[in-house]
Amino acid sequence: MKQETRLFIPGPTPVPPVVAEAMARPLIGHRTEAFARLYARLEEKLRPVLGTQGDVVILTASGTGGMEAAVANLLSPGDPVLALVGGKFGERFAELAQAYGGAVETLNFEWGQAVDPEMVERRLREKRFKVLLATHNETSTTVLNDLRPLGELARRYEVLLAVDAVSSAGGAELRMDEWGIDVLVTASQKALMVPPGLAIVALSERALKAMTGSRSPRYYFDLLAACRSKQKYNTPYTPAVSLFAGLDRALDLIFEEGLEQVYRRHQLLARATRAAMRALGLRLMVADAWASPLVTGVWAPEGLEADRLRKEIASRYGVLLAGGQGPLKGKIFRLAHMGYVDEVDILGALGALELGLYRAGYPVKWGQGVAQAQAVLAEEGKA
Ligand SMILES: *Cc1c(COP(=O)(O)O)cnc(C)c1O
Repeated sequence: MKQETRLFIPGPTPVPPVVAEAMARPLIGHRTEAFARLYARLEEKLRPVLGTQGDVVILTASGTGGMEAAVANLLSPGDPVLALVGGKFGERFAELAQAYGGAVETLNFEWGQAVDPEMVERRLREKRFKVLLATHNETSTTVLNDLRPLGELARRYEVLLAVDAVSSAGGAELRMDEWGIDVLVTASQKALMVPPGLAIVALSERALKAMTGSRSPRYYFDLLAACRSKQKYNTPYTPAVSLFAGLDRALDLIFEEGLEQVYRRHQLLARATRAAMRALGLRLMVADAWASPLVTGVWAPEGLEADRLRKEIASRYGVLLAGGQGPLKGKIFRLAHMGYVDEVDILGALGALELGLYRAGYPVKWGQGVAQAQAVLAEEGKA
């Protein structure tokens, strides 16, 4: 017997039993008082997670739907866009802006490196852009970008800052208003611990104003329509009611643990994972300075196919790791510690990784990685 559901991939992530239970209750109608109260509650609970007092709308879509909504509503065809690209999801944001006719210029950063604000400033000084697109947690390379300097630049150069925070919200600090972010997009199936299907889009006053002037075609993803409906805590079309109920319970879990503690837990699990990989002699994908607290990327050892290793670990031990995307395909594997994940989960995943490495012919001393992770965990909270 082995479990099939040990998800260590960066979305979908494990769903806590109490969240699954909340979703299994009888459905409520979406044109009812009860739904309005639910939506209003969700907006209130999402505020501290996203760091905003502005409008927060919930769309029934995956995270990419939220990103599409952001560009479709901000842009008119021909508008100049500067897209910061350092991985697969940065590319996706740029492609979306292109699809809506934006005059998109990409500023490329080496995959595995963080965005360099100085380079961004140089470009903003040279040319006027309407929208700046950035990725908070670049899941494909396991880099967490610092948004604060980007927000400062956006304010100084009067450009709207749209951020893909799909894989960070609920697992890493976000201060949308304080940092000067105009549109922030996230989704249900990452650190928020809910199944896929909800995109969450938060909007600044500036963003709302810009959206009234946008001439891009849009219908399902019309954010102004979503905001109008939200005045009565309703949605223009049928929402994924059960996912709303799940999100309500998931946010309670976050507050029961404490938002700050949730962030600390993610950082701790990342540190333990990184220590384990180093002890196993594996090379980490990114430097400590911008390593993601949500997912860890690791180069496969010389002569070992990352995807073969992953398949072996999945089929034998039921531990699902993610592979590399784009140019990193087959070269790295990624272990997510995102959402409903605790210390024992990580020790188990690392133990399975050791077995997988051994079977693939890599020299492993049993417990080498696990022991280092334990050492990191043991030090936590010690006076
Ligand atoms: C998962 C993810 C997305 C959205 O992907 P969907 O499959 O559309 O939900 C976007 N950006 C980042 C950084 C992600 O990790």
